[in-house]
Amino acid sequence: MRDLTLMNAPVNPKKLIKGALGDWEVVIGMEIHAQVTSRSKLFSGAPTAFGAEPNDNVSLVDAAMPGMLPVINRECVAQAVRTGLGLKAQINHRSVFDRKNYFYPDLPQGYQISQYKSPIVGEGEVLVDLPDGESITVGIERLHLEQDAGKSLHDQSPTMSFVDLNRSGVALMEIVSKPDLRSSEEAKAYVTKLRTILRYLGTCDGDMEKGNLRADVNVSVRKPGEPFGTRCEIKNVNSIRFIGQAIEVEARRQIAIIEDGGTIDQETRLFDPNKGETRSMRSKEEAHDYRYFPDPDLLPLEFDQAFVDGLAAGLPELPDAKKARFIDAYGLSPYDATVLVAERASADYFEAVAKGRDGKIAANWVINELFGRLNKEGKSIEDSPVSADQLGAIVDLIGDNTISGKIAKDVFEIVWSEGGEPRQIVESRGLRQVTDTGAIEAAIDQIIAANPDKVEQAKAKPTLLGWFVGQTMKATGGKANPAAVNALLKAKLGIE
Ligand code: ADP
Ligand code: MG
Repeated sequence: MRDLTLMNAPVNPKKLIKGALGDWEVVIGMEIHAQVTSRSKLFSGAPTAFGAEPNDNVSLVDAAMPGMLPVINRECVAQAVRTGLGLKAQINHRSVFDRKNYFYPDLPQGYQISQYKSPIVGEGEVLVDLPDGESITVGIERLHLEQDAGKSLHDQSPTMSFVDLNRSGVALMEIVSKPDLRSSEEAKAYVTKLRTILRYLGTCDGDMEKGNLRADVNVSVRKPGEPFGTRCEIKNVNSIRFIGQAIEVEARRQIAIIEDGGTIDQETRLFDPNKGETRSMRSKEEAHDYRYFPDPDLLPLEFDQAFVDGLAAGLPELPDAKKARFIDAYGLSPYDATVLVAERASADYFEAVAKGRDGKIAANWVINELFGRLNKEGKSIEDSPVSADQLGAIVDLIGDNTISGKIAKDVFEIVWSEGGEPRQIVESRGLRQVTDTGAIEAAIDQIIAANPDKVEQAKAKPTLLGWFVGQTMKATGGKANPAAVNALLKAKLGIE
């Protein structure tokens, strides 16, 4: 049914891909595996800590010893519910754990405990901010809880493979989107936003390098207005950049096949970032291949509305609400607000600087100076050498006209590399702005006297004012108040 309603959805021509025989639209849906932040595993008390020696974090349940029984971890359930709330999704008070059967050396049970027909979380939505400032709403199909598998190690011995079960049984949330995404940009922005929400909620750390957030990317192509095409699923893409690249190459591969008169086989593929191509892994399994059935070791999972309400009451302010508040309370542009709320730590830092000050100036300093500098040095906001108090003090010094914006950048630089209290730095280094118009006038008079030709030219060509401003700033060691300089120069040169 969905396919029919979407057939007539407006198509953004910018997002179409040009083929040899016309324009194509790419359709993307994602399955994100997010490792639940919890101290122990989904059905055992073994720790989930990263970086332990192989097989150190394995209980008898995780190793699937005969007769062991799984016991649900309440905190993992709470984390799934919090995430569901963050995705504005339906929370199912009753859900069922199923066995998904398949054989794999790193899956000692011979099945994964997952949720199939009755997931813990149903339909929801995510508001996604796009780089061009627009936003789209992406539907969430479901979120279910499941176990992670172990890991086969093939590079430790020339003749043997080893298995590390540390990850076996760790809780994952599989978050399935509807096929609502229409470009690699949208897909990347979706994962970015989802990751931000999970990190705000504290339900997944979103660390893609450690494999704590992985994406299966479903891609199909169609002529605009036609029904959905056959999709291929690209498994386990582990960076946002690779997600974008995988979609681009996969869409072009499918377009080339169809334009050549061929058809797409529904299959599971792997993205090779070195070769920039996707490769077939296996033909797509159907649900019946897994012989799903309810796990007889586990009762259906049930909780009441009070449990949900308790969790809802403890949720932090989420990025969309924070963004709206920043726009409202501090007069920020939607773009600046989006940048600031991307990480909770950046948002908190900004608020500490902006409290009781001009919000726009504070945002400017945090985004342009601080973030720019942090990026350059590969540092995160948590290890910023300039604290929010120090940056706030710099903003105050600009605000009360003690220093100009230009000198403020020098002060920022000094605080960054040497530390110190900004006001003291300004005093001890004599960086105070000259607002004394007498001193500025004297400097200007000298410059005018020394450059009669330029004065003549400036009367005909007012843009020369910039040259005079530069000279005056130079003569005053950059400390003259720029507004005063401009006003005095205009008066003396007779420029409007
Ligand atoms: P399955 O159960 O076979 O994995 P689902 O219906 O759960 O299939 O869909 C898996 C993912 O594929 C979802 O994220 C969904 O949005 C996406 N998807 C479904 N149909 C298409 C399509 N034609 N093109 C791209 N993605 C699709
Ligand atoms: Mg699926």
